[in-house]
Amino acid sequence: LAQLAAALQRFGRSAPPRASADRPAVTLADLKAALDAGQVKPYFQPKVDVRTGVVKGVEALARWLHPQLGTIAPDLFIPMAEQGGLIHELTLSIAEQSCAQAARWNRHGLRLSVAVNLSPLLLDADTFVGEASTLLEHHALAAEQVVWEITESSVVANLGAALGTLARLRLKGFGLSIDDYGTGFSSMQQLARIPFTELKIDRSFVSGASDRHHLRVILQSALDMANRLNLVTVAEGVETIEDWRLLQDFGCALGQGYLIARPMPGDDLPTWLRQHTQHLRALREGRVHGR
Ligand code: C2E
Ligand code: MG
Ligand code: MG
Ligand code: MG
Repeated sequence: LAQLAAALQRFGRSAPPRASADRPAVTLADLKAALDAGQVKPYFQPKVDVRTGVVKGVEALARWLHPQLGTIAPDLFIPMAEQGGLIHELTLSIAEQSCAQAARWNRHGLRLSVAVNLSPLLLDADTFVGEASTLLEHHALAAEQVVWEITESSVVANLGAALGTLARLRLKGFGLSIDDYGTGFSSMQQLARIPFTELKIDRSFVSGASDRHHLRVILQSALDMANRLNLVTVAEGVETIEDWRLLQDFGCALGQGYLIARPMPGDDLPTWLRQHTQHLRALREGRVHGR
């Protein structure tokens, strides 16, 4: 396992970070035009089995591929879309592109679950559950292959709307993930009312947790609780071998982070995956040794 982690670290780090404009001056009208022009796209970050290194799924993360300014990060334009009334359209676009991508991978024998982030504003939209189901039909996907991620803080802030919409999504068969767990001040009593299938620990409890006692305690407690509730446990922000080993010790099911791979365009994933798989095989056969 140590060798696996060492190899993954070398491998994950070999992908250079993509250029990103820090705080570019863009307007809502620019964003609308970019959506119409297909310049807002999902990048995909692998979610990996912490024991075996096998890729189980991906998370779709929105990128604005601006022709002049380069790649713009979602922290800049998601709030803009939320405030400017574009978040519904943006979410459906990212979900549509992600389902299309998953269907293409399926046709190549690659069955990966795809997670899409859901703004709390969508929880209020009574059309959303129907639109989500239509997407599946268009791409002949099973609902089980799609997971909606919703942050803990937005669930708590919108419990009434969240309950109804999330329960209906779950009834359709979609997976439901609590994102950024540990930062939202929810009570168990609140979360237990929603039929979540997965819990993602916020990266502030993952990156660098091994040498910080209180982070380790929180991480282990959250994982124990989620495992006992039969939720799929995911850790985001896995950056180092030490983070990875801690997750193995604490029984976390899946890990996601720069140690394994950065978010990448969908077309790059098959090549990345082939190399990753060769790497795992070489490790199993003892042909590669960790440092
Ligand atoms: P998130 O859903 O919690 O996604 C995880 C973020 O952590 C991503 O940032 C990802 O690139 C980053 N990350 C992954 N591994 C590591 C790591 O090892 N270390 C560190 N430091 N960071 C890591 P990104 O792509 O910039 O997205 C930021 C946030 O924007 C997301 O947080 C999500 O809340 C939101 N977002 C992204 N795409 C969408 C979308 O399509 N719709 C909505 N509503 N929100 C989105
Ligand atoms: Mg997420
Ligand atoms: Mg998260
Ligand atoms: Mg986050």
